[in-house]
Amino acid sequence: MELPAACLFDLDGLLLDTEPLHGQAWQQAASHFGRALSASELLSLRGRTRLDCAAQVRAWLAETRGASKAVPSTEELLAVRQPIAEALLVKAQPIPGAPELLGWCERQGLPMALATSSSRSAVALKTAPHPWLQRIAVRVHGDDPDLRRGKPAPDVFLLAAQRLGVDATACWAFEDSPAGAQAALEAGCRVHVLPPDHLRPEELNQAYPGIHRFLSSLNRLVAHLEAECSGRISTAG
Ligand SMILES: [Mg+2]
Repeated sequence: MELPAACLFDLDGLLLDTEPLHGQAWQQAASHFGRALSASELLSLRGRTRLDCAAQVRAWLAETRGASKAVPSTEELLAVRQPIAEALLVKAQPIPGAPELLGWCERQGLPMALATSSSRSAVALKTAPHPWLQRIAVRVHGDDPDLRRGKPAPDVFLLAAQRLGVDATACWAFEDSPAGAQAALEAGCRVHVLPPDHLRPEELNQAYPGIHRFLSSLNRLVAHLEAECSGRISTAG
């Protein structure tokens, strides 16, 4: 197994188990304005910036409400959504195996960067209870001044690789969302996807076109990587 030049990590749904909480907050906010979101709609919001999600939810509300009722502004929608999200997100737990995966990267001496759609303030809120995430010092946030386009555009991963001084094509990217996987693929990374539990195997290819590496769990990935590396050392020895 050839090791990458660096590892680029998504945050929500990959390292922290926040996606059900984000989904709950969008669902409650949309319901407040009279529209329930389907499971596939919630999946399509994953991995995208707050403003991109708000624009999408407003478009769905516009479809449902028709001309008779005004669609809430982005500010009105977020005024309902943000307090719900913030109360939920501080309770987010690590994805099982995520601290161990960062530990493995550290032991291998692999540079790491965070490539997230979350804003700097949202990342601060979510990561505060998780000191193990401080292992990732290089970070690109969704509201980064140097970032032009959010996922599914490749910019987040390209900028993360650039900040580590490596080529994105020499990196492994870890993602959970269709938008994030597309972004990492377009950046040229070798993409590993941890899909949400509710997707059936036959749904994966449709939800994640072009992706071939699906992880069943981060714990199993770490066990595999450790076995590969110990094999490499013993072969070399
Ligand atoms: Mg994600």
